[in-house]
Amino acid sequence: MQDDRRAISSSDKAKFSATVPVLIIGGGGCGLSAALSAKENGAEVLVLERDISALGTTAMSTGLIPGPGSVFQKAKGIADSAELFAADVMKKTRGQTDEVMALTLAREAAPTVEWLANNHGVPLSLVDSFLYPGHSRMRMHGTPNRTGAELMGALHNAAARLSIDIMTEAPVTELFADKSGQVFGVRVTRPDGATEDIACEALILACCGFGGNREMVAQYIPEIVEATFFGHPGNKGDAIRWGRALGAEVADINAYQGHGGLALGYGVPVLWAHIVHGGFQVNAEGQRFADESRGYSEEAKDIVAQPGHFAWSIYDERIHGLMKEFDDYQDAIKAGCIRSAADTDELCAVTGLPAALKQTLAEVAATAAGLRTDPLGRIFAPTQVLSPPYKAVKVCGALFHTQGGLVVDRGARVLRADKSPLPNLYAGGGAARGISGPSCWGYLAGNGLLTATAFGRLAGRAAAAQVARSGARHVAPGAAS
Ligand SMILES: Cc1cc2nc3c(=O)[nH]c(=O)nc-3n(C[C@H](O)[C@H](O)[C@H](O)COP(=O)(O)OP(=O)(O)OC[C@H]3O[C@@H](n4cnc5c(N)ncnc54)[C@H](O)[C@@H]3O)c2cc1C
Repeated sequence: MQDDRRAISSSDKAKFSATVPVLIIGGGGCGLSAALSAKENGAEVLVLERDISALGTTAMSTGLIPGPGSVFQKAKGIADSAELFAADVMKKTRGQTDEVMALTLAREAAPTVEWLANNHGVPLSLVDSFLYPGHSRMRMHGTPNRTGAELMGALHNAAARLSIDIMTEAPVTELFADKSGQVFGVRVTRPDGATEDIACEALILACCGFGGNREMVAQYIPEIVEATFFGHPGNKGDAIRWGRALGAEVADINAYQGHGGLALGYGVPVLWAHIVHGGFQVNAEGQRFADESRGYSEEAKDIVAQPGHFAWSIYDERIHGLMKEFDDYQDAIKAGCIRSAADTDELCAVTGLPAALKQTLAEVAATAAGLRTDPLGRIFAPTQVLSPPYKAVKVCGALFHTQGGLVVDRGARVLRADKSPLPNLYAGGGAARGISGPSCWGYLAGNGLLTATAFGRLAGRAAAAQVARSGARHVAPGAAS
């Protein structure tokens, strides 16, 4: 059990060497979006990042952000709206997320995508090659090669254009605050043990969730503790521990984004498009075990529950061709994790699966032809029947990141249980409660980066406004305040 009380010290213990009006902890997608937003709204800002480079989970991601009603959708003639997207969110979460927040973020989504593209030169375009599970429209936006690394590169370029300082190898180890929850600054502990105390007017927590903290995962999400963690290991739950210690409310602590397509032994995620286009998964006995079309997140725990904790994804050459536009899939090809088979006999041989796999293939084809009903509840489209040559990849269940966190308001201000805001604390991305409901099945593709970029933008703007009201001045790190 973590001791939250140790996370905060009173400010008389601090030796502030500098004052920065807006401090941001974490330099991933949320932190850099918040920094751009605060800076363009007139505040001086400093991003504190624990790693040697500010990349986070965001750089590991596919980098796709939903934007219902964006100019990019309109240019392709796709009619969409925030209301439609919010309805998809409510359906995926079985009505168990905050409806007002779902609509708020849905309304912020397209403006955030357009803000990143138009104001900050992030080269986003619409992904119109397939529909992600649970989305009623094609509304994902990504960089040319559809990678989070490219997204982070573009955010870094934008930050450099605005002369935003990013201090790396700067893990924040302590917050200084009073009993009212007012934060006065933070302590950074350098790799050599030296400490630096920096004062602030407003603090934005952009240091994601607790996926990298096995103890917290075991405590809050035991169902996924045996899965492979494929997120950013530096995300240790600091925001949640600090927020709690300051009296913030934490919600949906059991929520997470899992993934049922991480190539086992290769550490490469295989795009869920292989399922969306008609592929399926079998266990070591060659049997299907879940309706894969529900989504990749909930599939992870079902794989963990199979003998040997693995599954094989089965698809075909047609689907293989459709996925080639994605760099991440090219990585999977290069990694050599994808097996090819000319026919069903060879498919059994290359996977080592029993002949029951042939029966499963026949059943899936019969379901698609309307000759039987899938006992697991999946609808297979008649146009998506698999045909040889086949492709197969051995996968495990993975935990990508956690979705529960600090409850925030529509301006990304951190709230107490009585819904009053803490005086000067903001949160976004994996540090804040997402809109994924209380479990793994509520995660709708894109909602990780939506909460990172949209809450980041809102937090930066609100923090800058707070600083402007207080008339704070900026003193560079190293100088006495
Ligand atoms: C393989 C994969 C694919 C994904 N694809 C998508 C996708 O296409 N679309 C989507 O919406 N979501 C996707 N996600 C989820 C998405 O990546 C995350 O939801 C999002 O990146 C979270 O952003 P963040 O800024 O909150 O956290 P991060 O990007 O993880 O940034 C947090 C930063 O805080 C730093 N930090 C932590 N603690 C401290 C501390 N004490 N002091 C200083 N720094 C600290 C960390 O080092 C890190 O750099 C994917 C995730 C994975 C793993």
